[in-house]
Amino acid sequence: MKMKKITAAVFAAALVLSACTPVEDGSETDTIPVLGNNIVTAEEEPIKTEPTESEAAPVSEEQSKPAETWADTEEPPLEIPPQSETETEDTYSEGEITVIELTYYNVTLETGDSSMPIVTMYPEDAPDKSEKWTSSDENIAVVDDIGNITAVSEGECIIRVQSAVSPEVYAEVNVTVISPEEEESEPSSKNEGDTELTYIDGILIANKTYALPSDYNPGVDPDAQAAFDKMQSAAAEEGLNIYISSGFRSYDYQAGLYERYVERSGKAEADRYSARPGHSEHQTGLAFDLNSIDITFADTEEYEWVKAHCAEYGFIIRYPEGKESITGYMYEPWHIRYLGAETAKKVTDSGLTLEEYLGIDSKYSE
Ligand SMILES: [Zn+2]
Repeated sequence: MKMKKITAAVFAAALVLSACTPVEDGSETDTIPVLGNNIVTAEEEPIKTEPTESEAAPVSEEQSKPAETWADTEEPPLEIPPQSETETEDTYSEGEITVIELTYYNVTLETGDSSMPIVTMYPEDAPDKSEKWTSSDENIAVVDDIGNITAVSEGECIIRVQSAVSPEVYAEVNVTVISPEEEESEPSSKNEGDTELTYIDGILIANKTYALPSDYNPGVDPDAQAAFDKMQSAAAEEGLNIYISSGFRSYDYQAGLYERYVERSGKAEADRYSARPGHSEHQTGLAFDLNSIDITFADTEEYEWVKAHCAEYGFIIRYPEGKESITGYMYEPWHIRYLGAETAKKVTDSGLTLEEYLGIDSKYSE
């Protein structure tokens, strides 16, 4: 077993490398006014693509996070002089994991909501990248075997991912769980004579014409989640990162969201990209927003892959380009809707939007 020493200099090089590593496009969602989701905000993203060439690139607060762990020295990618003389050294053995990076290190979730950071383990050719996930407080948030964090009750806790082969190497996400009520200005009153669920050809519809009852609160549909997990694994095998940035959203949450968008953009503009409460497909638990939730997602390999393959897993791209007058929403490459594989294929093969396929409208009555 070959042992090596590595020093702060090498670690600095690793940090620079990580700052330069291309991550999935569009971690810059903070500038985009769209979007339905500020659960994982961009300022919490550890890796920005912009500062790549800037002098300030190497060490942001989050980027310094993996400092508890070590970089592989086999092929130092950049010659960087030591930035500090702090005597940080350690040894490692071949085959071990030396660094774990996450796509974010802080997240705020509402109770019931889920979010999953993407893990990258180094060295990239490590034979065993198995992960072990734990929560410091399962009363606050739980985490499954693949890192899907679900908020349980208000409070704060830490979710840790460790390398199974090198358990001393880990990364952590600080999780803050808030109650949905905190987001609202006032509890939304139930629609009087509340709406009923609308199924057309067995498909649950939520659009501008058809609303969901305000107390319809199913959470993420387990079949949709399972289908997504499969799709995510298949994409990962091709080296592509797809992840859910926004999944189920309750009526009340959507009410707060829509209200903020109206304040920001005015009602007419907000209606182009944000659903009024009861009209959001996210309330069905069958819709997911992927990755960066902005238009740059359309230019990524991830999107090309999702577009080509999502129907196999039961999803459609719900709001395609050029169909705003039909779907009621501007182009949203990131928003997919679960229909089950059979129906998703039929709809996709038809080349139609869901509204056209079912022969229905999507228009607010007022
Ligand atoms: Zn969406």
